[in-house]
Formats: sequence, C-alpha cells, structure tokens
Amino acid sequence: MYYIDYHHHSNHSFDSKAVMMEICQEALNKGIKEICFTEHFSVNPEAPTYGHMIWKEYLSDIQKCQTTYENQLVIKVGVELCEPHLMREQYKAALSSIPFDYILGSVHNLSGFTLRKYMHAHPERDIYLDYFKEMHALVSYADIDVLAHFDLMKRYAHTTRGIYHFPDYQDIITSILQIAINRGIGLEINTSGWRTSLNESLPSIEVLKLYRELGGELLTIGSDSHKKEDVGVGFTQAINIAKEAGFNAYYTFEKRKPIRIPM
Ligand SMILES: [Zn+2]
Ligand SMILES: [Zn+2]
Repeated sequence: MYYIDYHHHSNHSFDSKAVMMEICQEALNKGIKEICFTEHFSVNPEAPTYGHMIWKEYLSDIQKCQTTYENQLVIKVGVELCEPHLMREQYKAALSSIPFDYILGSVHNLSGFTLRKYMHAHPERDIYLDYFKEMHALVSYADIDVLAHFDLMKRYAHTTRGIYHFPDYQDIITSILQIAINRGIGLEINTSGWRTSLNESLPSIEVLKLYRELGGELLTIGSDSHKKEDVGVGFTQAINIAKEAGFNAYYTFEKRKPIRIPM
C-alpha cells in the first residue's frame, strides 16, 4: 500500500510548533511515501489563525525539505482554509499566486466564534445543525479540493452533548455530499479522532458510506498532525474503514488535480 498522509501542521500554523524537516524525517522513518503540508490560513482578522502565515517562508521551507528528501519522500504544497466560502474575493487575492497542490476547506468558526466557544455560547441551539449548515455553504461556494474533517463539531461536543445521531442529519449531510460530488470536491478521512476520547474518525463511517453510495470517489487520508509523533498515525485504520465503506481507491493531488491510488 502506498503510504500517504495528506494533513500536516508545522510551525507555519498558529497552533503547532512542529518543524517541517522533522516532520519529513518522521514520515521517512515510518515508511511514508508522500505527505502534504496543510497549514491553517484565513483572511478573516477575527480568525485565530489570521496573520500567522508568511507565504514566502512557507514555500521556501517546503522547497528545502523537497531538496533534502528528493527521491525519498514526495512533499506537496497544501493549505487548510478557514471558511473559504466567506470573503471569497480576499481569499482569491491572497492565494492566486501560490502554486498549491491541494486545498482543504474547513469550518473552524461559526458566526465569529470558534466551534468550541459557539457550543458553549449557544446551549439552546442545535449546534450540529448550525455546523452542517455552514458546511453546506462552504461546499456550495468555496474554491477547494477536499472537505477536511467533515463532522468536526463532534470533536468539541462529544463529551458534553454526545456524538450526533446520523439519521437526524442525513438530509443535510446528503445535500452537502451531493454538492461535493457535483463540484468535484473530495472527502478526507481525518484520523485525529482516533487519538482522543472521541475514538472515531472524522467523518464517521456512515458519512463515508453515504458519499460512496451517492457516487463519491475522491477520498484522501490525513492525520491532522500538529506534532511529529502523530505523522502517519491511523493510516491503516483509515484504509480499513474506507474499504468497509465501499471504496477501492484513495487519492493524492498534484497542482490541484487528483491522482488515483488503487487500494
Ligand atoms: Zn482543521
Ligand atoms: Zn488541520
């Protein structure tokens, strides 16, 4: 199996201190063949990540890694955008000159709150529905390649409100996935949930199965590592759950074009 990991944060993200070269060495040590850096980025001054990224340094650090690990590890240039369906003109202006291989789209914030703060500030609301509505807007309008951690709200809500009951949200989830398929947007299996008390992938297998049943094919796999120890963790589990959901391939990206890897 071609071992990949398509979701990493280094010190180019506001919430990580990991060093790119060490991430690459860790990947090599673990037998990983291909990785993609996906640092946080937002054009919204309210977002916690705002102002951290210096593109020139990011690209030059990746280039150093690519030179050091030439012929040993494929290293791709990616990004994880916060709410890229909002402030689209600003995103376009900020990103148009950067040679991305891969763009992840995420809902990290709702109505100016981080998801965790939103949850605490709105005890009376159906926070899962609010979250999925924002995902619906994201998938409808954002210029992205793949949806990151599809049901992220559960990462924050599972301890206090429980994990959402899939059938209750099946309609809106179906709609999100259908739009993703129509627009050629893929789905990530984010393995980070298996490293916490949540103890499940993002999304859960019901969502993966539904995406597959609707004709979805573009699947990627990412650890969402913020420290080097987490690089590559959960890949085998992700392959297993993908097979169980009916997939027979996963994808890497090059210059934002998907490349099929049979399982
Ligand atoms: Zn994220
Ligand atoms: Zn991430």
